[in-house]
Amino acid sequence: MSDGKLNFAFYWAASCGGCEVVVLDIDEKILDVVEAADVVFWPCAMDFKYDDVEEMEEGEIDVCFFNGAIRNEENEEIAELLREKSEVVVAFGSCSALGGIPGLGNGTTKEDIFEKAYNSTHSTENEEEIQPEPRTEVPEGELTIPEFSNYVRALDQVVDVDYYLPGCPTNPDIIVEAVEAIIEGELPPAGTNLATLVSRKTLCDECDRELADEKSVTEFKRPHLAEDNGEGCLLEQGILCMGPATQAGCGARCISANFPCRGCFGPPEKIDDQGAKMVSLLGSLIDSEDEEEIEEMIDNITDPFGTFYSYSLPKSILKRSEKK
Ligand code: SF4
Repeated sequence: MSDGKLNFAFYWAASCGGCEVVVLDIDEKILDVVEAADVVFWPCAMDFKYDDVEEMEEGEIDVCFFNGAIRNEENEEIAELLREKSEVVVAFGSCSALGGIPGLGNGTTKEDIFEKAYNSTHSTENEEEIQPEPRTEVPEGELTIPEFSNYVRALDQVVDVDYYLPGCPTNPDIIVEAVEAIIEGELPPAGTNLATLVSRKTLCDECDRELADEKSVTEFKRPHLAEDNGEGCLLEQGILCMGPATQAGCGARCISANFPCRGCFGPPEKIDDQGAKMVSLLGSLIDSEDEEEIEEMIDNITDPFGTFYSYSLPKSILKRSEKK
């Protein structure tokens, strides 16, 4: 803390950057933040160098909002540096808290990702099949780029994390709650998912859709191919909605737009594995005892892996990898 003000830092690792933008969605509340805190590191918005952070004292940053997963050597190095310099580290957004969309890369290998991205897309012209290398000799000397890791990791699989603020992007209302709690020195116990400051329930508890007395799903449908009746629970209509296995706090934004929840807030406190929870839940919805029919219904689910683990694969029981 300097001049009675807190020091905040923001960092963008492996993510789309939407979480950097959502900081501005807190509207006029940003004025309270400016009054209470100085931003001492925010490479996306201002010209800071990593050397500036190196030169800071340990704990000089009061709160670091770290967005993005750990996908390469640079992400890991900066996560460690910011951890050392920060009193409090917040895993900001789903990529940082859960691995997020980049975490789906854990379903394949680094080699396959490179092959797809650099050699086998229709829009790529790369006759020599050149792929990125951490070190490349050029006439002017050696060029280096951060090494791409074998696996994507959530932030807490690399450094200790004090708080989690999930969402893709996260909800400005939760940012405001969290920042107010920080400014007033009233943060909950370390390890808390800050979305629980606004709700301790699942998304289904926030959802206005009507629930049927009896559940009887006979077919699972992709959202763009399904005919939604506009009123009833999407899941009960066979439209795969992650609401029952997802922490509330987003304000049911997707459901309000008649789109099923994709699970970006991650599992609620009592659920360890979001995908496994959904799979077990589907079993209780299916209205059939005929094995063949059930198999056909399950086969009809396109990309179950990407559907049930869109945001949480690196933190799931399937891919809790510690390996780089
Ligand atoms: Fe709402 Fe989806 Fe839950 Fe149904 S499954 S109640 S549509 S959040």
